[in-house]
Amino acid sequence: MARKGITRRLFAGAALASIPVASMVQAQPARRRVVVVGGGFGGAAAARHLRLADASIDVTMIEPKSEFQTCPFSNYVLAGFKTMADITHGYGALTGRHGVTHVRDMAAAIDPAAKTVRTAGGQTIAYDRLVVSPGIDMRWGALPGYDEAASAVLPHAWQAGPQTTLLRAQLEAMPDGGVVVMSIPGNPFRCPPGPYERISMIAHYLKKSKPRSKIVALDSKDAFSKQGLFQDAWKELYGPMIEWVPLGQDGKVVQAIPGEKTLVSEFGQRHRGDVVNVIPPQMAGRIARDAGLAATEGAMAGWCPVDPFTFESTRAKDIHVIGDASIAGAMPKSGFAASSQAKFVARAIAASLAGGPQEAPVYANTCYSLVAPDYGISVADIFRATPNGIVAVQGAGGVSPRTPKDAAQFRDQEAHYAEGWYASATKEIWGS
Ligand SMILES: Cc1cc2nc3c(=O)[nH]c(=O)nc-3n(C[C@H](O)[C@H](O)[C@H](O)COP(=O)(O)OP(=O)(O)OC[C@H]3O[C@@H](n4cnc5c(N)ncnc54)[C@H](O)[C@@H]3O)c2cc1C
Repeated sequence: MARKGITRRLFAGAALASIPVASMVQAQPARRRVVVVGGGFGGAAAARHLRLADASIDVTMIEPKSEFQTCPFSNYVLAGFKTMADITHGYGALTGRHGVTHVRDMAAAIDPAAKTVRTAGGQTIAYDRLVVSPGIDMRWGALPGYDEAASAVLPHAWQAGPQTTLLRAQLEAMPDGGVVVMSIPGNPFRCPPGPYERISMIAHYLKKSKPRSKIVALDSKDAFSKQGLFQDAWKELYGPMIEWVPLGQDGKVVQAIPGEKTLVSEFGQRHRGDVVNVIPPQMAGRIARDAGLAATEGAMAGWCPVDPFTFESTRAKDIHVIGDASIAGAMPKSGFAASSQAKFVARAIAASLAGGPQEAPVYANTCYSLVAPDYGISVADIFRATPNGIVAVQGAGGVSPRTPKDAAQFRDQEAHYAEGWYASATKEIWGS
């Protein structure tokens, strides 16, 4: 048997030796290259799931950071019952077990014709398919008086990291009896229920540590996600501590005066805060806009139109835009949505590169919010693609009931589910 094996190997070796080197090189199928811009919810999930779908694809993720801090649960850091370490995730599993190449740099330019990405550090990286998930940029100056320098005084904390730490420090330094003023933008923006969870989490902290304090939340809208549930809970848990001022009651902020820690409303009311949290209007991350992937006019200017069936940019072939930067119809700008899009797009790219059939997309979102550490509420939806955009499947989702049986136990259980969601979502993206 052994002799036979040796003979076969020798024969194979001899046969290969007679093939010219050039034709051997040609015989190797070219490795397919997918580049992913961004290592957040959309990008890191896409990179991982591309490798899971087809380990023969070279996946390069361009992301300047060495670790990622999640916006989900950052409101709990503000409340003081989670730490920045709790919301920080490294890329070790992606680069180790999953074999993703992490280029620690900013993507500076995309050339859709040459199919290359140039990094700020000067590398040019070629791709067969590109996934762009750069998240959001603030629209500095869209709210007069609120630019990047102003955010050092009036933090937005809408990208987790130093801004979260700054807002937390300001809340800790505020005297009992102080006023927290918040400004909430009009749609669309990252995480529709996020501002209302933040109001709740700040109220939770103040109730415990500075009970004579107050929150004034100035809103550019009259309605918001999970509104009934939030407002019921605010009344029950925080009473007069929270004043929510809708658009119809002059809630829209039209000017920020950082030097006076003051926000001015449409009809000229001035709101001075001891702590002022401005959540400004937003748009797709710069690389997507610079690459011409974003709409330039209309209500969705600054966000990236995509084919609802593939998330391929309608403006550039072989480039998929996912996550907050994309215009995803009824899907909210959430981490859950971004990773749901990422998983589908990863499988679709792998199938397309292998010449296989495409599956029909089904996307999902679930969003938990805490109103107190033992009081959770949620909304869940399933989405499907139509030629007119992505729509929610009627009857497939739902929100927490307003008056459940055994309410305290029900809300407490939802708070546990929120923890479970975060643990599994982050493990599935960044974990081992
Ligand atoms: C307070 C708050 C609470 C939230 N809570 C929840 C929640 O409970 N559940 C939920 O599902 N969602 C939640 N979200 C929303 C969620 O954070 C976002 O929807 C999600 O992060 C979007 O994913 P993304 O990939 O589009 O962007 P991100 O996750 O922000 O990732 C973008 C990444 O791209 C990188 N990047 C940007 N430009 C470049 C470039 N040129 N080159 C290379 N890299 C680049 C950035 O460094 C960043 O790491 C919350 C948001 C906020 C603000």
